[in-house]
Amino acid sequence: MFELDKIVRANIGRLRPYSSARDEFSGTASIYLDANENPYGSPLSQDFHRYPDPHQLALKKKISAIKGLPEQNIFLGNGSDEAIDILYRIFCAPGVDNVIICPPTYGMYEVSANINDIAVKNISLLPSFDLDVDQILTAQDGRTKLLFICSPNNPTGNSIHKEDIEFLIKKFNGIVVIDEAYINYSHQHSCIPLLTEYPNVVILQTFSKAWGLAGIRLGMAFASADIIYLMNKVKPPYNISENTQQLALQSLDNIEIVNKRIRETVQQRNKLALDLETLSIVQKVYPSDANFLLVRVLDAPATYAYLVSQGIIVRDRSRLQLCENCLRITVGTSKENEDLIYHLKTYSA
Ligand SMILES: *Cc1c(COP(=O)(O)O)cnc(C)c1O
Repeated sequence: MFELDKIVRANIGRLRPYSSARDEFSGTASIYLDANENPYGSPLSQDFHRYPDPHQLALKKKISAIKGLPEQNIFLGNGSDEAIDILYRIFCAPGVDNVIICPPTYGMYEVSANINDIAVKNISLLPSFDLDVDQILTAQDGRTKLLFICSPNNPTGNSIHKEDIEFLIKKFNGIVVIDEAYINYSHQHSCIPLLTEYPNVVILQTFSKAWGLAGIRLGMAFASADIIYLMNKVKPPYNISENTQQLALQSLDNIEIVNKRIRETVQQRNKLALDLETLSIVQKVYPSDANFLLVRVLDAPATYAYLVSQGIIVRDRSRLQLCENCLRITVGTSKENEDLIYHLKTYSA
C-alpha cells in the first residue's frame, strides 16, 4: 500500500516553512509596515510595490472552477519546470534515490534529476512510442521515487494509453507524475479524474501552450491535498509574481478565445500533416495529439539547415533514440505552415 510519509525525505517532512508577513497578518488594515515594501511605489504607472499573494488564492479559485478540483489540490509554479524541481526536492534524496524516465521525452525530467544529483533509470519507449510497462516495473527498486509519464508525449506527439497509465499507478510504489502540457490538443481526456482514486499521482499542466502564455511562466500541479501541502512548504514564498497572477486571471475570463484557437491549431495540425505527407523528402509523419508534428525525413540535419537558411526554425530531434532523422515541427498559423510547405517543396525539388 502507498504511504506518503514513507517516501517523503525526512528533512522535508520535518520542515517548518517560511512564514511571510502576509501569513502572519492576512486581514485588512489601513497601514502596512510589516513587509519592508517601498511606500512610494515604483517608477511604473502600474502598482507593484506590494508583495504578491503567496498562496495565489484568487487565481486558484478560478482554476478550481474550470478544472472541477478543490483549491487544496492545486499547486502553482513558475512554469511546470518549478513543479518538477520541487517534486525532486520533496521525494528524492541526492545521491541515494532514483527516478524512471521513458525517452524519447521532455528533457527537463533528466536535467532536473542531474541538478538534484538523482540517478535516472531510462526505460525507452517501445518503437510504437508506447510505454514498456513490464520493463518499467522491473526497473523499480526500493529507492525509485518518481516515474515520469508525458502524455501527449514530447517529442513523439502520441498520447499514452490510459490503461497503461492506470496499471502503472496501481503497481508503482512511488509517485507517478503525468505531464499533460499538451492535453488541450489531445483526443484523450485528462487523467485528473484518477486523482480521486489514487494517492500517488501528480498531474502537471501549464499555461505555456494552449493558453498562449509561455512568457508569464505559470505551471499547475494537481495532486492529493497532502502532496500539495508539501509542494507549498518547499516552494519559494512568492514564486508567482503579481504580474503573472493578474494576467492569468484576465486570461481565465477569456476561455472561449483559448478554445477557439485550440480548435484552429488542431485543424492546422491535421492539414499540415497531410501536406507534409505529399513531399518526397518526408518518410513519415507520426500521428500527433499535440501542437507539433514529429516528421521523419531523408536527412534531418540537412533539412534543418536548409530551413534555417530560409529563416524557418524547427527542432532537429534526430539525435534522440527512436527519432532518427526526425524533425519536430510546431504547428504555426495557416500562413506560417504554407510558407514552411513552400520551402520544403522547393528543397525537395
Ligand atoms: C512545454 C512543456 C512544458 C511546459 O513547461 P513550462 O515550464 O510550464 O513552460 C512541460 N512539459 C512538457 C512535456 C512540455 O513540452
